[in-house]
Amino acid sequence: MSRVNGNSAVEVAVVGGGPAGVVSAIAFAAAGAETLLIAPTPEDDHRTTALLAGSVTALETLGVWTACRANAAPLKAIRIIDDTRRLIRAPEVTFAAAEIGLDAFGYNIENRHLLAALYARAAELKLARIDAPALAVASDSLGVAIRLADGEVRARLAVGADGQRSLCRAAAGIGTRRRSYPQTALTLNLAHARPHEDISNEFHGESGPFTLVPLPGRRSSLVCVLDPLSATELSQQSDAELAEEIERRAHSLLGKMSAEPGRGLFPLAVETAQSFARARIALVGEAAHVVPPIGAQGLNLGLRDAATLAELVADARRQNLDIGAPELLARYDRARRADALSRRIAIDLFNRSLLTDFIAVQGVRGLSLFLVDRVGPLRRALMREGVAPAASQPRLMRGEMV
Ligand SMILES: Cc1cc2nc3c(=O)[nH]c(=O)nc-3n(C[C@H](O)[C@H](O)[C@H](O)COP(=O)(O)OP(=O)(O)OC[C@H]3O[C@@H](n4cnc5c(N)ncnc54)[C@H](O)[C@@H]3O)c2cc1C
Repeated sequence: MSRVNGNSAVEVAVVGGGPAGVVSAIAFAAAGAETLLIAPTPEDDHRTTALLAGSVTALETLGVWTACRANAAPLKAIRIIDDTRRLIRAPEVTFAAAEIGLDAFGYNIENRHLLAALYARAAELKLARIDAPALAVASDSLGVAIRLADGEVRARLAVGADGQRSLCRAAAGIGTRRRSYPQTALTLNLAHARPHEDISNEFHGESGPFTLVPLPGRRSSLVCVLDPLSATELSQQSDAELAEEIERRAHSLLGKMSAEPGRGLFPLAVETAQSFARARIALVGEAAHVVPPIGAQGLNLGLRDAATLAELVADARRQNLDIGAPELLARYDRARRADALSRRIAIDLFNRSLLTDFIAVQGVRGLSLFLVDRVGPLRRALMREGVAPAASQPRLMRGEMV
C-alpha cells in the first residue's frame, strides 16, 4: 500500500479502516477513482462475521475472497431451537441452503482473517493509505477538508466508515436515533469434540439467542445474548467453567468444549443515522447503522452500503458528473434507507418476541415458526430475502464489477 502524507487532494477519502471502510476503498479504486484510505491499524478483534452469499460474491468480485476461503466455514444450514421454558414453545426449524439452490447461505470467518485479506488486497492494488486518524472533517461546496496530525487532505467526497462514534457523521451534522436493549452479547470462540456439520445452531432463550456458528474444523464462534449482569458474570468464569457452562447451554450438541483466548462483551443497541449522506460526506457501515448481533446482518448491510455507493460513484464518473453532488448523495440515502430500516425492524421484532412475557406474542412467534416450518414457499421466500434482499442488490453483489 503506498503511503501518503498530508497536504494532498484526492477524489475519494475513506475515513476508517474497519471492514466496511477497506471494502469501500477497494471498490472505489476498482471504479477508477483516486482513493485515499485514512485508517489507523484496527485493534485486535477475536469476533467472527457470518458473511451472507451476496457479500461473499462482492468479495470474490473485488479479488478478496481467495485469501479468505481457507479460513472460512460454509453455513449450509441454520437450525433454530426454542430453548425457552414457556407455555407456548415454537417447533424446531432447520433451514437448508440447498432448498434455495445455494451451496451455503454464506461463510463464517474470524474478523482478523477478513481484515488481513482486505489489507493484503489493498496493498496489492497499491491503494494509498494514511495510518493515522482523521482529527477534524469540514466540508464546503467544492469538497471536504480532512485534518491529520501532519497536514490536510482535500477530497471531492469523504466516506465516513469510522464506526459508531463517527467523526464524519458529526461533521456532516447528521444526528442518530438510538435505543439500547437490556441485553449484552458475550462472544468467544470454542473448539469442540463433535463436528458441527456446517450447521449454525441458534438456541432461543428468554433473554435472547445463544448462537454457535461454524468455523473451519471442529471450532465454532459463540454469540450469547443475556441480561448484562449474567453476561458479565459468565465472562469472568475460568476457561474450564465457561466451556462447561456453554456445553450445558448447547445441550452437548457439539460434545465437550474448550474455550479459546479472547472474550468480548457488547451491549445491544440499535442506532440509525437520520440521513446516510449530506454535505459531501456519505456514511457506510456502523457510522450509518448499528443493529444487534442477531441474524448476522450488521456488516452485510455495511457491505451493501459500500457496494451501492461505489456503483453510484462509478456511474457519475463515467458521465463526468460531480461524485459529491447533492443529487448523488440523495440517491445513495434513498437506496440504502429501506434496506437498513427493514433489517432493523425485523431484528427488533424478533428480539422483543423473545424478551416478552406476553403470551399472545409468544403464540404469534410460535405460530410463525410453525408456518415457516410447514409452508415450503414461505420458508424459501424468507430464506432468499434473508440472504439477499430482493430490493437491494448492487452490481458487486451480483458478481458484476462496479
Ligand atoms: C458480537 C457481534 C457479532 C457480529 N456478528 C456479525 C455477523 O455475523 N455478520 C455481520 O454481518 N455482522 C456482524 N456484526 C456486526 C459487524 O461486526 C459490524 O457491522 C462491523 O464490524 C462494522 O464494521 P465497520 O467497518 O462499519 O466499523 P468498525 O469495525 O467499528 O470500524 C471503524 C473503524 O474506524 C476507525 N476510526 C474511528 N474514528 C476514526 C477517525 N477519526 N479516523 C480514522 N479512523 C477512525 C476505527 O479505528 C475502526 O477501525 C457483529 C457485531 C457484534 C458486536
